[in-house]
This record gives sequence, C-alpha cells and structure tokens, in this order.
Amino acid sequence: MGETRLSRFLDEIYQRLLAAYGHQHWWPANGSFEVMVGAILTQSAAWSNVNKAIGNLKKAGALSPQAIRSLPLAELALIIRPCGYFNAKAVKLKALADWFGSHGDNIESLHDADIESLRRELLAVHGVGQETADSILLYAVGKPVFVIDAYTRRIIGRLGLLPEKESYGVYQRLFTANLEADVHLYNEYHALLVKLAKDACRKKPLCLQCCLSDMCCYNKNNNIGV
Ligand code: SF4
Repeated sequence: MGETRLSRFLDEIYQRLLAAYGHQHWWPANGSFEVMVGAILTQSAAWSNVNKAIGNLKKAGALSPQAIRSLPLAELALIIRPCGYFNAKAVKLKALADWFGSHGDNIESLHDADIESLRRELLAVHGVGQETADSILLYAVGKPVFVIDAYTRRIIGRLGLLPEKESYGVYQRLFTANLEADVHLYNEYHALLVKLAKDACRKKPLCLQCCLSDMCCYNKNNNIGV
C-alpha cells in the first residue's frame, strides 16, 4: 500500500474506532507520576490488578517518587503485590523513581527535552522496555510517540498491514510515517486499539461485531462476513 493510501487507511481505522467507542480518556491516572508507576505495574498484568496495587500505594502514602525511593524494597513489594511479579516490579519502580529524581522529580523539566535522548535515557532504566518507555513519553510527558503493544500487533496483523511478528520499530514507523505527529491523536488511537482488542479483536475474534470487518484481511480470508 502506498504512503498516501496507508495514511487514509489508518485514518479510516481511527475514525471508525472513535465513532464506535468514543473518547477513551487515557491514561487512567491522577498525574504524571501515577502514569509512570502504572506503566511499570501494567507489565504482564491486568489493569484491574494494577488499580489495586495503585490503590494500595495511595493508602500507604507511597505514590510519590520520594516515598518509593525511601521505602524498604520488601515493603514496597508487599504494597504492590496485587499486580504480580511484585518483587521485580518493586526494583523497577525504585529505578524509575531514581531516574525521575535525576530530573528533580519535575515532569515540566522534561517537556522541552528532545524525544530521542529522553527515550534513550528511559530505555537505560532497569525494567523499562520500548512499550513502557513510549507509554511514559506519550502519557506522562506528553510527547508525540506512538505506543505499540501486543493488541496493536494483533489488530494490525489481522488487518493485513504488517506481519504480527514484525519489529517494534517497524510497527511504530507504520503509524508515525503515516499520521501527523500529534499527542492527542496518538493518545486516543492507542487507547482505541486497546478497546477494540478487548471488545471484538480478542484472541478468538468476534468479527461480526467489529467496526473494521469490511477492511480486514483476517475477516475476508476466513469468510466471516461484515
Ligand atoms: S474483523 Fe475480526 S480480525 Fe479483523 S480487526 Fe475486527 S475483530 Fe479483528
């Protein structure tokens, strides 16, 4: 597909998802640091369990970079227990809080930073991979960075735009090369893809109730219908 056609195709997907599901109001958090914490806790975890862990942090008065740095590791792990892998995630949270501390715990100091150097810094933090780094850049810092996750791969793969196993960078470029670099658009687009994956494009897809069915290779190849 040529670039202009791709842009139109991606825009069509977005418009249909927005019409079907409306604005998703992401990221579900109070403030940038809570977004950062959530981006770590959500690794291999259901959001309902992340919510419980964040609730525990709030109850313990520990949802701040200072508190996370000063809490004993075992105590922090116990507080975030509901989100799973809690020992490993406690170490990651401390590493992230240390990194944020190196910027004075001040999200505004990051607003003018160059995206690529900030991304490199985040990727050097223990436990921060590409999806986590990009979630922080987009939803906490407000940079126009498109987040790729397993849901995006599943949907885009099934639509026939890229093989599902293609690299993170290739997936990301599919969006950034064909859409305007716009924080609000990237915010909403990623959230809508997650919504579609949970609603219709599940592991076993419910194509008959999907707003993208007439655009989708998987649907056509499996003769499911529109
Ligand atoms: S038509 Fe089916 S496979 Fe294609 S995006 Fe929708 S739910 Fe997924």
